Amino acid sequence: MAAQNLEEIISLCKRRGFIFQSGELYGGLQGVYDYGPLGVELKNNLKAAWWKANVYENDNIYGLDSSILAQKKIFFYSGHETTFCDQMVDCRKCKKRWRVDHLVDARCEHCGSQDLTEPKPFNMMFKTIVGPVEDQDSYAYLRPETAQGIFTNFKNIMDSLSPKLPFGVAQIGKAFRNEITPRNFIFRVREFEQMEIEFFVKPGEDEPWHQEWVERRLTWWKAQGLSEKRLTLSAQGPEELAHYAKATVDILYQFPHGFEELEGVANRTDYDLGSHTQGQAQVAIQANVAVNKDSVHKLTVQDPPGKHFIPYVIEPSAGLDRGVLAVLTEAFHEETLSDDRKRIVLKLKPHLAPIKAAIIPLKRNEPALVETAQTIKHSLQRLGLGRIAYEDTGNIGKSYRRHDEIGTPLCITIDYDTLCTTEENEKSGTVTIRERDSMAQKRIPVSELIEYIQRFYR
Ligand code: ATP
Repeated sequence: MAAQNLEEIISLCKRRGFIFQSGELYGGLQGVYDYGPLGVELKNNLKAAWWKANVYENDNIYGLDSSILAQKKIFFYSGHETTFCDQMVDCRKCKKRWRVDHLVDARCEHCGSQDLTEPKPFNMMFKTIVGPVEDQDSYAYLRPETAQGIFTNFKNIMDSLSPKLPFGVAQIGKAFRNEITPRNFIFRVREFEQMEIEFFVKPGEDEPWHQEWVERRLTWWKAQGLSEKRLTLSAQGPEELAHYAKATVDILYQFPHGFEELEGVANRTDYDLGSHTQGQAQVAIQANVAVNKDSVHKLTVQDPPGKHFIPYVIEPSAGLDRGVLAVLTEAFHEETLSDDRKRIVLKLKPHLAPIKAAIIPLKRNEPALVETAQTIKHSLQRLGLGRIAYEDTGNIGKSYRRHDEIGTPLCITIDYDTLCTTEENEKSGTVTIRERDSMAQKRIPVSELIEYIQRFYR
C-alpha cells in the first residue's frame, strides 16, 4: 500500500537526505524547501523523463529556458497583475490570514474563530527591484508561471526555426507564488518548478488537441509509476477557470491529504499571444514608434502564406514538486517480513531511482574485496545510467535496509567467491545481485554484470 500519511514521507525525506526545510538553521522559511543529495537525483530523473517523452520523442516540440526575472509589462498585458489573485480573509481574533476557499465552515484554521474580515483579493506575484534605483519603474516580477517566457519568445522561435503548426515549446523551470497558506510539505509552496508545454494549433483544432494532451499526460504519469486508481480527471467549472482559459482539465492524484491537482491541461485559446500582440503595439504607440500593420500582427503564423492568424494554444502544466511528492507517495511501502520484522521500501520505477545500484564489499577492511568492489563500481558508473553507490558500512543487512528505504533497485555484493578463481567452486568469479522489491538474490558472473545492468535499465 502507498503512504497513508504525509508525516511518514516527510520523516523519510529528512532522515535519508531527500528534502529539507529551507533555512532550517534559522527556524525555516515557510513554504520553501531544499532538495538534498537524493532528492536532487530523483527530481532530475523526473525532469529527464519528462524532457525525453516530450521534447526528444516529438520532432515538433522544441525546448526553451527563459528567464525567471520578468518585466512588469509582461504580467500587465498577460492579465496577471489584475487577475492573479486569491481571495483572502483575516481572522480578527488571532490576526492570521487565510485563503477563503481553503477554510472549512468559514472558521479560522488557527483559533477556530468565525470572526473573519470580508474576502479581499491578494496578488500572489513576488516583486523585486532590478538595478540600483528603487522606484516604480525598477520593479520586476519573479515569474509565477513559466508559460509567459514561451509566449514572449514566440516570435524568436518563429523567426529562427520556422516551425509549422501544430508545434510546441517545452520548458522546465522555477516559478514563484506568494501563497497565503503554503501547506502539505512540497505540495503547496512559494518556490516551485513547473514542467510546461505550450502547444500551438490552428483555431478549430484546439478541442481535439486538448483531449489528446489530457490522454498523453495521464499516460506519462502512469509510466512514472502512479497507479490508475489514484489518478482522476476533473474538468474545471466556469467559476474555477483562469482568466486566460476556455477549458481546463485537471489531473488529480490521491496524495496522503486527498485527491488534489498534479497537473492542469488548459485550452488558453489565443488569449496570451493576442494580449501580447496588442500590448507591444500599445507600448510602441506610447513610445511614439510608428505602428504599421505588420507590427500589430507580430505574434502570428501564416498558413497558407499571406494569411496571418494567432494560433490557439493547449497548455499541459505540471508541478515538478507535486510530481516528486506523488511518486514518493506511491512508492512508499511498509512491509512486514516473514520474521515479523518491518521494512520500509521505496518501490520507485528504476529510471527514477536516485541510486541505480549499490556495490557492497562483504568486508570494508579487506583490500582485495575493496579493490574489486571499486573496480566494479567504476565500470558501472561509466555506463552513464546515473549514480552508482559504493557502500562500505561493512554490514550487509544494514546496507540492504538503507537502500530499500531510498529505492535503490539493485544491490551487488562482492564476497570471497567473487575473488575466487578455482574451477571446482561453481560460485567462483560471481557476485550476488539482490533485487529491491522481491528481495530475491541470485549469483551472476562478474563478466556478465555490465550486460545485466544495461538490460535492466533499457
Ligand atoms: P492550485 O489550484 O493547486 O493552486 P493552480 O491551478 O493555481 O493550482 P496552475 O496555475 O494550473 O496551478 O499551475 C500548474 C501546476 O503548477 C499545478 O498543477 C501544480 O502542479 C503546480 N503548482 C501551482 N502552484 C503550486 C504551488 N504553490 N506549489 C507547488 N506546485 C504548484
